Amino acid sequence: MPDQDRVRPGANWDMTNGAWLIVGAGFTGCTLAERIANVLGRKVVLVERRPHIGGNAFDYYDESGVLVHAYGPHIFHTNSRKVWEYLSRFTEWRRYEHRVLAVVDGMRVPVPFNVNSIRTCFPAAAAAQIVGRLLRYYGWGANVPILTLRQHHDGYIRLLADYVYEKIFYEYTLKQWELPPDELDPLVTGRVPVRVSLDDRYFQDIYQAMPANGYTALFQRMLDHPNIEVVLGTDYRQLAPAREFKRIIYTGMIDEFFEFRRGPLPYRSLRFDFVTLNKERFQEVGTVNYPNGQPFTRISELKHITGQVVENKTTITVEYPERYAPGCNEPYYPIPRKDNRAHYLTYLEEAQKTNGAVLFAGRLGDYKYYNMDQAVGRALQLFESIAAAEGV
Ligand SMILES: Cc1cc2nc3c(=O)[nH]c(=O)nc-3n(C[C@H](O)[C@H](O)[C@H](O)COP(=O)(O)OP(=O)(O)OC[C@H]3O[C@@H](n4cnc5c(N)ncnc54)[C@H](O)[C@@H]3O)c2cc1C
Repeated sequence: MPDQDRVRPGANWDMTNGAWLIVGAGFTGCTLAERIANVLGRKVVLVERRPHIGGNAFDYYDESGVLVHAYGPHIFHTNSRKVWEYLSRFTEWRRYEHRVLAVVDGMRVPVPFNVNSIRTCFPAAAAAQIVGRLLRYYGWGANVPILTLRQHHDGYIRLLADYVYEKIFYEYTLKQWELPPDELDPLVTGRVPVRVSLDDRYFQDIYQAMPANGYTALFQRMLDHPNIEVVLGTDYRQLAPAREFKRIIYTGMIDEFFEFRRGPLPYRSLRFDFVTLNKERFQEVGTVNYPNGQPFTRISELKHITGQVVENKTTITVEYPERYAPGCNEPYYPIPRKDNRAHYLTYLEEAQKTNGAVLFAGRLGDYKYYNMDQAVGRALQLFESIAAAEGV
């Protein structure tokens, strides 16, 4: 595309009453569009490359009438009251606490590993020793990262830590990232806990729920405002150059925005296979992980997660990690390594040169893994700084 045809930083945005251009209709873009339209009373053009709103949280009813998550199972959980209250304006909720089993040596055990998992995987005498020592060192209810447990002087604690590390953590990480855990940022890998309790919930956040009518319905309500124009199936670079934008908020890949001038950032991708079965239920919980022995990482059954009632039909999603291949699949995850972060910072320097004319946010704009609540929290925080600058 010739340079003059691109929507560029600096082209027209000093217009005082021009619209805001927001690139990407995921949680980040929709939150900012809603706030700018509602609170600032400004016009917003929200442009999305995919044929639908919602980004990776998009859901739809498949041919069997089962509500499925197009880009992998999305479970909402947060400790942020602010994010919870904000999203509650656009949806009712259905209470849901996610549970995950991992297949280890033919057994199905709760993860994160808890006292019941220990009792399933170890002979009774060894399990009693391990649990006794966990209680002595950490107390009932503690969550202890396995990387911490691996450093422990007590042989029973290390026996447990090495078991979880080798049978679950190491192999799952290798499959997911094609990298061993020690080559990934310990800030990410170091968090996986062992629970000194019977709590078999995957998350322990204060708020855990699913939008009662699904994510897409939530996004539709967020964007239902006369100031918001949604343009789907369109790359922002295809918008007519004559359109004038006050400012740009960009939630796509930051390296792509700058035409990869500092080199492409690494991403990890996934493939999702959807299978509909003529039965009521496929598995006992929302997700079953397969750390080893299979080419896929996990299988999720959507009816568990959404609570939807569909008689004698169920749809499962099988997840296969893949290398990111531009144009062939999606860049789902920034790869959490220190050198990638340093690489991203070179793009942040480029971003700063726009003097705030283009604001970057979101999972791809910040090159950072965000859960949905974190993406919304980050967008609300960015909005507050925008509103302050506008004197609102
Ligand atoms: C498999 C998987 C499972 C997940 N599960 C959970 C979960 O259980 N719980 C949880 O809290 N979070 C989960 N997440 C994270 C969640 O998906 C993110 O927090 C959320 O998608 C972030 O929203 P976003 O708006 O920043 O990015 P996105 O949702 O990626 O939205 C960015 C949008 O920008 C569009 N775009 C990019 N470039 C352009 C362009 N040039 N022009 C126009 N549009 C463009 C993209 O098409 C995309 O739709 C999961 C993520 C994945 C990948």
